[in-house]
Amino acid sequence: MTIRDELLKNIRRVDPYVPGEQPQDKVVKLNTNENPYPPSPAVKRALEELNTDSFRLYPDPASGVLIKALSDFHRLKEEQIFVGVGSDDVLSLCFLTFFNSDQPILFPDITYSFYKVWAQLYQIPYECPRLDSDFRIVKEDYYRVNGGVIFPNPNAPTAVYEDLGFVEDILEHNHDSIVIVDEAYVDFAGRSAVELIGRYDNLIVTRTFSKSRSMAGMRIGYALADESLICCLNDVKYSFNSYTMSQAALVCGAASVRDRVYFEENIRKITETREWVGKELKALGFIFPDSKANFIFAKHPDYDASQLFEELKSEGIYVRHWNDARIKDYLRITVGTDGEMRVLLQSLKKKLEK
Ligand SMILES: *Cc1c(COP(=O)(O)O)cnc(C)c1O
Repeated sequence: MTIRDELLKNIRRVDPYVPGEQPQDKVVKLNTNENPYPPSPAVKRALEELNTDSFRLYPDPASGVLIKALSDFHRLKEEQIFVGVGSDDVLSLCFLTFFNSDQPILFPDITYSFYKVWAQLYQIPYECPRLDSDFRIVKEDYYRVNGGVIFPNPNAPTAVYEDLGFVEDILEHNHDSIVIVDEAYVDFAGRSAVELIGRYDNLIVTRTFSKSRSMAGMRIGYALADESLICCLNDVKYSFNSYTMSQAALVCGAASVRDRVYFEENIRKITETREWVGKELKALGFIFPDSKANFIFAKHPDYDASQLFEELKSEGIYVRHWNDARIKDYLRITVGTDGEMRVLLQSLKKKLEK
């Protein structure tokens, strides 16, 4: 593609985020951290009860039914909740709204690769302190003047979870910055930073329905924070697009949130499979940090990861691999059903025995 310089000078260019492949044929798909189980049956019922005549009308711009359900679930005020089209939408609006500084924002060098893309897109300066050799965030790196802080907990793609004391330490050292904790995977991990929201007016926690709620295709995410911050987020949203959430997303999302029993059972199955697969991978010689997410980030001392990635792919088993120097030895393997994981383990066994 060539664009004349005269035109190019006024065009916003960016290196886009590269999502994992979405192959359309039948494969063992362990590459984008989707949930292998269906969403709650209550979601199906909600969709069936939806009256399509109402599609004539715009959806509720305030997303009332979904916010109400989330408010009951988290025991927070409705004014402390903001919903969007997946947490990517929510995070992107957070970058635009809260990272409006000349100082660099801080996030780890190995983390969700979308952060760098949004920083570039919105022309926000950023710095990326290195994770240590165990892929842990070094908290002292965040004890300095900055334009904001963001990190996922558990981190992606490492699956490493830091406890609430760690999160609170970062908050204590950043009273005058917004700190965003991206909890895309926290349901598979442990305590959430949501319980700190009442005590820190600078904390934003983001969540997604894509992983623990099996609803990546519906595109629902949300942010939880002090109501003054949620108000700022709404002002930016209404300056952009008032009707982000479709009627279908609103009712399906609310139905999912109300079915707590199914939600907890879904998470239990995934974490059980994760622990079993972890043991099997260790027995095969893989090395990985303890996973608290729905994926395992593993390397093998005797096997080239990119080669393994290609070989698995040729057998219809999709995992994720990055050519980045720091993590090129690793594969990120989503936790699927027990059956899918058996297929993966069988294939790995055969290759490693050769
Ligand atoms: C999957 C993921 C997201 C995005 O989730 P969506 O709600 O599907 O947009 C955000 N942050 C991290 C760390 C993720 O892994």
